[in-house]
Amino acid sequence: MTILQHVKPKMSEHVFNTWFAVIVPLDESDNLTLKLAVRDQFARDWLQEHYGAFLHQELQNLEGQSVAVDWVIEPSLFIEKPVTTDTLHASTKDEAPSDDISPQKAGNKSSIKPLSLNAKYHFSNFICGPSNEFAHAAARAVAAKPGRSYNPLFLFGDVGLGKTHLLSAIGHTIQSSNPDAKIVYQSSESFANEVVDAVLNGKLEEFRRKYREETDVLLMDDIQLLAGKERTQHELFHIFNVMYDSNRQIVLTSDKLPHDLPNVEDRLRSRFQWGLITDIQPPEIETRVAIVKSKAAREGLELDESLAFHLARHVASNVRELEGALVRILAHASLTKRKLTIGYIDEILNNIVPRTTPDLSIEAIQEAVARYFRLKVNDLRGSQRRQSIVRPRHVAMYLCRKHVSKASFPAIGDQFGKKDHATVMNAVKKIDRALESDRSLQSQIQDLEQQLDIPQTTKS
Ligand code: ADP
Ligand code: MG
Repeated sequence: MTILQHVKPKMSEHVFNTWFAVIVPLDESDNLTLKLAVRDQFARDWLQEHYGAFLHQELQNLEGQSVAVDWVIEPSLFIEKPVTTDTLHASTKDEAPSDDISPQKAGNKSSIKPLSLNAKYHFSNFICGPSNEFAHAAARAVAAKPGRSYNPLFLFGDVGLGKTHLLSAIGHTIQSSNPDAKIVYQSSESFANEVVDAVLNGKLEEFRRKYREETDVLLMDDIQLLAGKERTQHELFHIFNVMYDSNRQIVLTSDKLPHDLPNVEDRLRSRFQWGLITDIQPPEIETRVAIVKSKAAREGLELDESLAFHLARHVASNVRELEGALVRILAHASLTKRKLTIGYIDEILNNIVPRTTPDLSIEAIQEAVARYFRLKVNDLRGSQRRQSIVRPRHVAMYLCRKHVSKASFPAIGDQFGKKDHATVMNAVKKIDRALESDRSLQSQIQDLEQQLDIPQTTKS
């Protein structure tokens, strides 16, 4: 069994296909050293950093002795098609029939303007953390060698996590190193409008020339919006082929993986998978803190660590909301001239950020409470009157009421063994009252909230 076969079941298919399936084990390996070829430095660095220790361990398991990995960068092994020397301008210069693009014609632009890159989004103000470092590294690799590293680059992730930011950063970087490069940044929606416009106004030829011949780099945002737009997909398919064949860079963003894109032609979907697919996950707390601090600093405000941390805990879901919350806070603070404190931040945030954690369910709370008090979930749902069970049951109901959005008293009662709403109401009241003086209850609730990843309510 080869090492690649050996590690395959230990990772997701996506990771394996992206990183491992393209490794070529070389014949010159011996018992103590395994030579593995990859196509470029980016792949080598990434594999070494993220899977170096893992591979070493797995090799040891497989061979029963320590085997060193020697990475060899061997681009020639990975070339599937002839590479033209001047990648960026290959097609416009060499392939376009010259009588077809007279300067006058080329200057005759479509009435729909391409969008322009967002001037604020650069690599320099993109904060990296484990959730996005892969996408960030891939974006940088593509920006450094457009058309020659990963084509297409496919960035996928939920809304507000930085896809457009990275896409624009790629555009800015390429533009500054190749001022003549024609970079087209387009959202799929306005691309679709452009297609319709071209068809209706008889400008299809001009449209095709613009993309197939004049565009060096195509940055297409939110391609999930192509769903069901057959004509647009058809045009994109041909643009894709021509650009790809002449090594011109294509970068796509989407909130879905290619194979999950609904109503997109298979042939297009499969092309989206030809290059590198990278995902962006919601940022971890440390990354969120760094983002908050850096954004505040750019607004001229030094936000101290505890305040940044507090805000980052509060807004966990996406960076756009985090930014929105920060902007609100800065605006309030500058209008009222009040000093920013945790309490003040809470006051402001309570108007914009619901206190409930969106994904928290009644079951999750029951499980956490049962674990905490070393009971079974069924004890909480049952009706035993022993105090050692009754108190945890009340605590669980209290937490459900406080933190599960849309959990009404009857809904909670229902999931606690079909108890009526008055029982739940009384339980919540009891805990509320006890919390005023019972220190150990206070700390139990705090522990549980922490375990459930609920932002702490801080009294100021
Ligand atoms: P998406 O396109 O994925 O919906 P955006 O790229 O529009 O998300 O990002 C939303 C906002 O969050 C933007 O203002 C962007 O600058 C910011 N943002 C997202 N991720 C980061 C990050 N890692 N560092 C700094 N800002 C970020
Ligand atoms: Mg976007």
